[in-house]
Amino acid sequence: MDVFLASPRGFCAGVDLAVDIVDLAIQQYGTPVYVKHQIVHNPKVVADVEAKGAITVEHVEEVPEGAVVVFSAHGSPPSDYEKAKQRDLTVLDATCPLVTRVHNEAKKYTREGKKIVLVGHAGHQEVIGTTGQAEMELVDERQDWNLPHWDDETEVAVLTQTTLSVNDTALAVSKIKKSHPNAIVRDDICYATTNRQAAATELADITELVLVIGAQNSSNCNRLKDVAIKKGVPAYLINGPEELDHSWLNGVEKIGITSGASTPEKQVKAVIEAISPANIFRVGPGEESTTFAIPRSLRSMVGDGTRSSSKEELIPDEDN
Ligand code: SF4
Repeated sequence: MDVFLASPRGFCAGVDLAVDIVDLAIQQYGTPVYVKHQIVHNPKVVADVEAKGAITVEHVEEVPEGAVVVFSAHGSPPSDYEKAKQRDLTVLDATCPLVTRVHNEAKKYTREGKKIVLVGHAGHQEVIGTTGQAEMELVDERQDWNLPHWDDETEVAVLTQTTLSVNDTALAVSKIKKSHPNAIVRDDICYATTNRQAAATELADITELVLVIGAQNSSNCNRLKDVAIKKGVPAYLINGPEELDHSWLNGVEKIGITSGASTPEKQVKAVIEAISPANIFRVGPGEESTTFAIPRSLRSMVGDGTRSSSKEELIPDEDN
């Protein structure tokens, strides 16, 4: 049995940065440091930061007055910053810069008087943060949807959640363009989502089964699973070897493995060890070099911003 390993997979630059900000906050302020919402959507990453002294809460109101809080990578609505101010909290903002870019686009187009449409999944943390930035229509492409009847003069700008399916979003955007051909469409699906979906597509083309390693509440992990299933290949999203059902592997010679942007590489290694393949082959566009610096606004709060952690060590490229 051979494993075909997606490249890229695993941690993106935004997740690296968010985890580092929690580490730096703990170094600078001591414990506990509060984290509003899971720092990234992965229970093992959350457990790791909590073992170092972070406390995850869901709402700003749960953070004791005067404490230090990190806002998660998914972004937060302005109302959360306002509540934090009222509680005299020290806020370290771990919002991914690519999510902040979408927030800034929303504010800019609002200032310009345009109607904003956000293609995104209702209830996802990133969408809660983005819809808080300005008035906008949410298009959830998983459901039936229609835009309001805006006249032909109405200028429309279309933004997207960063972790959506590239193909499903293209369909939603083309429907919007039919009624609003002049709509400005921002390409907000991030590089990490795009590259991981491209690699998953290649995996599905050459394998009989795809395992996506990651958490059930991770949007980008679920989209990777969808990519394989839409290509007619059975796919499962599992956290690690403990969730691997070995009956899935019966009669299978080629297994594709990938992982979402919030999945630590050690979870991938553990699954590969459990499968014990004869060979491992790389598939996909290849590793990424994108990194994000600690935002200038945080450098004075977390020392010089020197980051001890860096991109995780990947499984060595030994078989091709
Ligand atoms: S998946 Fe994309 S948007 Fe989300 S944290 Fe990673 S780089 Fe940022």
